Amino acid sequence: PFLGRCLIAGNWKMHGTSRDLGTIGRIMTLADTAGDDVGVALAVPHTLIFPAAQMADDSRLSVGGEDCHSAEKGAHTGCVSAPMLVDAGATFTLVGHSERRTDQGETDAEVRGKAEAARAAGLSVIICVGETEAERDGGEAEAVVRRQLEGSLPQGDSAGLAVAYEPVWAIGTGRTPTTADIAAMHDSIRSALTERFGAAGESILILYGGSVKPENAAELLSASNVGGALVGGASLDADSFGAIVRAA
Ligand code: PEP
Repeated sequence: PFLGRCLIAGNWKMHGTSRDLGTIGRIMTLADTAGDDVGVALAVPHTLIFPAAQMADDSRLSVGGEDCHSAEKGAHTGCVSAPMLVDAGATFTLVGHSERRTDQGETDAEVRGKAEAARAAGLSVIICVGETEAERDGGEAEAVVRRQLEGSLPQGDSAGLAVAYEPVWAIGTGRTPTTADIAAMHDSIRSALTERFGAAGESILILYGGSVKPENAAELLSASNVGGALVGGASLDADSFGAIVRAA
């Protein structure tokens, strides 16, 4: 699902029950009426993957998970593996979201393990990276993100990979970096990807995430090397998410 010029991906986090399937239906319509070169994806709680994927079966909406375990199966109570996501109908998953890095203490090595498991199961993967406010204020943002990429990118080629740059201080806060800061970071990520994957690194989509809204989407998406957006809060509302898809 990560081919094309631009990907707008929603992340519902711990929001949504079967009562919200109508919203997913409306997002499906958005995906089907978006431009040919714009992909639309939605990461939902595990409990919604199956019904959402069934509903989106004949549509251009890609339904995915928000995380997976690095093992195929085993004694890991409460966890969900990549083959389980596939079984439920997911075609991709997020890994390494900052909320998991913070709340669950996930390390780069664990994120890499998850990314590798996801690809082995046939899922595409959005690997999330981003600095904290203190790291940005300390002038370390690019170094931190480079280190996260080095530690989190899976072994092997670049098939099915996308990267989301999400500054932790911009997630859910209404604050965003300047377009110049986003461009500088995305250019740096692009260099890291081409150093790692050669020419294939040129076509990996690099999404920006952090307080993307209908009002700022066009500007954020215009920055250098921005190949789409990862949208949290605004993806819960089909009108807002639709306006962001149209801005792409
Ligand atoms: C996210 O958590 O992936 C995100 C970008 O959230 P928000 O859009 O709400 O800042």
